[in-house]
Amino acid sequence: MRILMIAPPGAGKGTQGALIAAHFNIPHIATGELLRDHVARQTALGQEVQAYLDRGELVPDQIVLDMVREAMIAAKESGGGYVIDGIPRNMEQARAAYQIALELGMTADVALHLQADDAELTRRLLARAALEHRSDDTAEVIAQRLALFHEVTFPIVAWYRDRGILLCVDAMRSAREVGREILAALEAMRPSLDLVSSQERPPLDLTSLGNAFGATSSAAGRSE
Ligand code: ADP
Repeated sequence: MRILMIAPPGAGKGTQGALIAAHFNIPHIATGELLRDHVARQTALGQEVQAYLDRGELVPDQIVLDMVREAMIAAKESGGGYVIDGIPRNMEQARAAYQIALELGMTADVALHLQADDAELTRRLLARAALEHRSDDTAEVIAQRLALFHEVTFPIVAWYRDRGILLCVDAMRSAREVGREILAALEAMRPSLDLVSSQERPPLDLTSLGNAFGATSSAAGRSE
């Protein structure tokens, strides 16, 4: 299973990425986490990217692409599956990540888009700020990150829709419900992934289903 997650800040990429990774026993590659780790360790790369993170801006494409290439090579050695959270964030990264994956023979099966509105996302990020003290969880930087998502990242979703690998999930519910729906959808898709080329797959939009899907499935057992 090879999955890219495209979601605004606060939608639950980290939580759901970890759940998917555990469920399918695949590596979870989270670019934000990798970058924050460099900042915490004050590596040369960490010093270079810190200001971008603090301002809620994208770090230069090449930095994250190098990171992802390295992580994908490691993922290939450990079986070939992955769930990547945090890249791509713009069209250049989408194309470059696709090229890297193509070279390695491991292009994504699913682009998972988590949907939530800005008011809810802001509420969640401010609540997290009180607990985690992330340098980019201030009201001003949150607004900047959301604006960047809408302007620069969201257009990529249509690109995946056209490629036939898009899965949209409504993330305005508890992490547990969202996780159930994601795992149920991925499990349902799994048998066909090897058989049907991505160009022939219709996009899958579950956002109008409300709670019905997640509530009836017992595929996941995690809570928030
Ligand atoms: P969020 O989605 O909540 O903003 P992340 O942990 O995914 O949180 O990312 C935190 C920060 O890391 C981003 O604001 C950005 O500065 C940087 N970052 C992460 N992924 C990328 C990427 N693919 N390209 C550029 N910058 C990135």
